[in-house]
Amino acid sequence: MSITSTSNLYCNSLVSYSRRLTIEVPVGDVPLGGHNPIRIQSMTTVDTMDTLGSVEQSIRMIDAGCEYVRITAPSVKEAQNLAEIKKELRKRGYRTPLVADIHFTPNAAELAARIVEKVRINPGNYADKKRFEVIEYTEASYQGELNRIRDKFLPLIRICKEHGTAMRIGTNHGSLSDRIMSRYGDSPMGMVESALEFLRICEDEQYFNIVLSMKSSNPQVMVQAYRLLVQKLNEEGLKPYPLHLGVTEAGDGEDGRIKSSVGIGTLLEDGLGDTIRVSLTEEPEAEVPVAYELARRYDHREGHAPIPAIPSYPITPFEYNRRKTRAVLNMGGTHPIPRVFADFSMKEKITAASLFALGYHYSVPLDKWNITDMACDFIFLGDRFLEFEIPGTLGLVYNHKTWLAQKDQPRAYPFLRASNYLEGAELSPIVNFIYACINDVTGELLEKLKGDPTAVLFIDTYNEHGMAEQRRIFVSLMDAGCDVPVILGKAYRDLSIDQLQMYAATDLGGLLVDGLGDGIFIAAENCGPDKKINETAFNILQATRTRISKTEYISCPSCGRTLFDLQETTAMIRSRTSHLKGIKIGIMGCIVNGPGEMADADYGYVGSGPGRITLYKGRDVVRKNVPAAKAVDELINLIRENGDWLEQEVLMN
Ligand code: SF4
Repeated sequence: MSITSTSNLYCNSLVSYSRRLTIEVPVGDVPLGGHNPIRIQSMTTVDTMDTLGSVEQSIRMIDAGCEYVRITAPSVKEAQNLAEIKKELRKRGYRTPLVADIHFTPNAAELAARIVEKVRINPGNYADKKRFEVIEYTEASYQGELNRIRDKFLPLIRICKEHGTAMRIGTNHGSLSDRIMSRYGDSPMGMVESALEFLRICEDEQYFNIVLSMKSSNPQVMVQAYRLLVQKLNEEGLKPYPLHLGVTEAGDGEDGRIKSSVGIGTLLEDGLGDTIRVSLTEEPEAEVPVAYELARRYDHREGHAPIPAIPSYPITPFEYNRRKTRAVLNMGGTHPIPRVFADFSMKEKITAASLFALGYHYSVPLDKWNITDMACDFIFLGDRFLEFEIPGTLGLVYNHKTWLAQKDQPRAYPFLRASNYLEGAELSPIVNFIYACINDVTGELLEKLKGDPTAVLFIDTYNEHGMAEQRRIFVSLMDAGCDVPVILGKAYRDLSIDQLQMYAATDLGGLLVDGLGDGIFIAAENCGPDKKINETAFNILQATRTRISKTEYISCPSCGRTLFDLQETTAMIRSRTSHLKGIKIGIMGCIVNGPGEMADADYGYVGSGPGRITLYKGRDVVRKNVPAAKAVDELINLIRENGDWLEQEVLMN
């Protein structure tokens, strides 16, 4: 589905930063949407029946900057206890709105809506139980299902109206109803329709205090679903409801931060999003600074350097399509893997040991290089030299003048400005990296690039709205029918490593999720160690699912339903399985939502009772109620039985 005009787009502008204006939704004393700032929220992980524990954790979250506190209410007794939690918080002087998180239990929702400022329902399981069945519906039987939903949902709407309670209709990619799956499949369209079924009932009832979300653990799917949601709201003439942004089960540490930034950051760049929850398998207060860091980048984004308008948009925003490029060496064409470029141009001294940080380990006794899954493909040396033999898979990129003196060295390639290229500078017969910012991308350059089988375009930006500017370059290339491979370049300075991960994941990830880019180059001055910067590049490619270099963990953030220590268990599973490149392991705190939410994981480790774990292969239960003490070993046995296990020692050789 490509867009040929900008009239039905999903955002105000693809070239000029502008936040989508939504209706304001009152949520206690902290209104959401409209002209309000992007609100930050998180969710407690303590058992909701533990009143003091919940209060104290809520206070830690609020003190960290959380503007709404979500608390799970799996049944009526927890919903009832929200009143105690709220009372104690108010007694201690905290007026932060509370949000009840509801799955499967309309009676808990109806009670909670009388107590707290907002309820979150999951349209995939509010009125439906998941049976993983494909059912054939006729028009009449489908309509019958919608009538059944309406009957179950109307009491909640009426209570919300009466009590001034807001509602989030929060779709999860992993827990779509069998009805939606049967008609729309496991797709962004299914996610959108799942919310719209409930939203239309709300509008019929003249209830508009609604926030919408489209979460997935796959940032590509999540981005597409939110965009499609906005487009459908516009198309159907529904109100511009505020959006709650989040990537579910993002995991912990840098993986969680990068995955969240790819999903949330990409949407924020286009002005979408009114509230953010970053889901990390860490303490909830640790999520808050990450969310602020993401939101803060847009405080002064308006007024950035202008970017030329896009008369017609050739990129498909609602489904993943890799831009078609021709192959040059190992980039573009039939090489689907984006390449990673490391920057050593500023390094004082480069030795063989410096390459350890870039994923190349030299073994002195064996006199050979071991290449890890995170070994970069090229090093940009600028005007520096290497005085040792490099691994055979590595390419070296020099500034053009320096390359002229090095051109007989194997796998050495020049990097030259677009102007030098157009002036007829001497070129490599294999690969030439042509550096260009948006103003360099002229008709003359495009024509020359089109006819040059050795050219790779290396794009950079100094615009504060850099992702949009680089995306605009792709539009020019596509309009001109120029299939040159493109390396996405971006320079950062004086950032913490956390900031670098979040910013680069937003700026570069936002292009990669749309199939744009055949390689990435992060130039990071004073932003942390080389190893971390190199890993950041690989982790961005992993999060955008464009290059898999390690095991992926889809771990839930935990909540009051969680049946084991998620942080500790995730760390333990990671320590045993992190070498299983390409395998996805879901680690979920409860069996109520876990199996649905772990989406497309290959293996699942799910809490099924106190001290009990149920293991999954795909969507199938394969070991029930395994004692927790044995469950990690059993998971590894299961991976072994399915032929996906590799011994770590084998990989070292
Ligand atoms: S899967 Fe995790 S976060 Fe989701 S409801 Fe269960 S325990 Fe809570």
